[in-house]
Amino acid sequence: MPTYVLPPLGNNPSSAGEGTTPGSFANVPDLGGPLSFSSPDTPGMPSPSEKTAWDFLPSGWSRKAGGDTAHAPEGFRPSTQLDHARLGAVTPEMRRVAEREEHLNPEQVRVEVAAGRMVIPANHVHLGGGLDPMCIGRASATKVNANMGASPVSSNTDDEVEKLRFAERWQADTVMDLSTGGDLDATREAIIGAARVPIGTVPIYSMILGRRLEELDEQAILAGIEHQARQGVDYMTVHAGLLQEHLPYVRQRLIGIVSRGGSLLAKWMIQHGKQNPMYSLWDDICEILRRYDVTFSIGDGLRPGGLADASDAAQLAELETLGELTERAWRHGCQVMVEGPGHVPFDQIEYNMKLQRRLCHGAPFYVLGPLVTDIFPGYDHITSCIGATAAAYHGASMLCYVTPKEHLGLPKKDDVKQGCVAYRIAAHAADVALGLPGARNRDDELTKARAALNWEKHFELSFDPDLARAFHDEDLDVDTDFCAMCGHDWCSVRISKEIVGFLSGKDDRYAWEAPRVSEALSPEQRAILEKRGVLSPEELHRLARKTRASMGAETGKRADCHSDLTTDDEAQRLQDQTTD
Ligand code: SF4
Repeated sequence: MPTYVLPPLGNNPSSAGEGTTPGSFANVPDLGGPLSFSSPDTPGMPSPSEKTAWDFLPSGWSRKAGGDTAHAPEGFRPSTQLDHARLGAVTPEMRRVAEREEHLNPEQVRVEVAAGRMVIPANHVHLGGGLDPMCIGRASATKVNANMGASPVSSNTDDEVEKLRFAERWQADTVMDLSTGGDLDATREAIIGAARVPIGTVPIYSMILGRRLEELDEQAILAGIEHQARQGVDYMTVHAGLLQEHLPYVRQRLIGIVSRGGSLLAKWMIQHGKQNPMYSLWDDICEILRRYDVTFSIGDGLRPGGLADASDAAQLAELETLGELTERAWRHGCQVMVEGPGHVPFDQIEYNMKLQRRLCHGAPFYVLGPLVTDIFPGYDHITSCIGATAAAYHGASMLCYVTPKEHLGLPKKDDVKQGCVAYRIAAHAADVALGLPGARNRDDELTKARAALNWEKHFELSFDPDLARAFHDEDLDVDTDFCAMCGHDWCSVRISKEIVGFLSGKDDRYAWEAPRVSEALSPEQRAILEKRGVLSPEELHRLARKTRASMGAETGKRADCHSDLTTDDEAQRLQDQTTD
């Protein structure tokens, strides 16, 4: 037996409890508390806030004895999920969320929403259309957002709707329409009409189309926000935390302000010599968003745009204001999430997540990446998904994807896929590490299929089955007891499977049901391989035929190499060999 001692264990994330490892090293789950699923704190990290949305009730409200519900003034009509949750009502949307988050029941969802730790972005208008309600918060699985939107130089409405479908197919949980070109109104309308996922926008983009920035006034801001709320936008980024007082800090930076909304508002403040209008109009904006139940995504206009600017005075001063705006929005009954950086060295990510958790009292944190290095343009879906994994482990609730096109151009369909896949990896890795019940089940199922060398099940359980099959079939289109990576004689999984004393491949549920030979490559798989540019399709099939012949496989007959054919004597011989 090993003599080392494992750290105190959180919770095995495999609900089947079949894992052979100890499970998550994260804190023991605390549903209904400030640390639902949380990482242990590195020394010196800010502690969680002792306050929640319950400490910021609208005037005239009082919390009932016992704690989890409140009285509203006579004649009050609830509008938002937060209003309903505070009054003790479980809405159909909360019930739907509980169906989708199998470890939560509807009452737990209500409690999280009432505390402000969870949001359900569901505009009344979009709910009347095709929206399938989902939630964002630490008590639930980590979510992924995909950005899209036409730019002045590229793309159109049809392309954007097509990208939306692609993002939904690759399991984005929400989509932001960040269009800055073409017919913004028509594009937004078409995307909301087609979307089953919540749609977010940054309303200032459309406010400055057709007018000069200096002409933007308070009336235009409120009208623009109301218009988008009426269209059915589920959540809006409002850059209200960037104040006049913060602008001097920006001079120290290497790259200034990289948020589009943030840079526009900074310029407006300088031109007018006035405070950020989003900040001055905050209470009016809250009232509009409350009417439609549009969730706030309070923007971080001063997010760092390079490692050198991370965690600087500008970013942290703005974060304090985001905390103040969160409290004020809760007093209006609005649902709130808060946006975060950006570009952050890996070692600073935990601090950033835990500082937000403290200053914004547990309101869900929605982060862009963060990118952990600046020198890999073209690969920023990778640099950022490394940071996103750490962010989700330490406190973020939703991850905004970054595509390979980041900093370089407008993402096309395949870039959307690459971004979605990278961020599903980050979100899933964090959920497993946090010990979210059931998070690891599919990993364990795939491991069993892999151990059984059951390629069909292996592909079926893969996130991208076509890609997995195409890569496998690139060298071998016959279902052998090995793959082209090590070959027959060196395949440790095959040898393990043949050793009688090991479980590998002996579970009936993973055994092949019938002998089979892979079908030929589908057009999609062929396209995947052609794109790789390694082998021509002709060459692939020539190799596959060669392998098939050498293994004696024919359609309807399992290849001779298959270890299910191993006799007890042969198994014994292999076992003896292995233990020599
Ligand atoms: S050949 Fe190597 S990579 Fe392929 S299944 Fe066997 S052990 Fe795994």
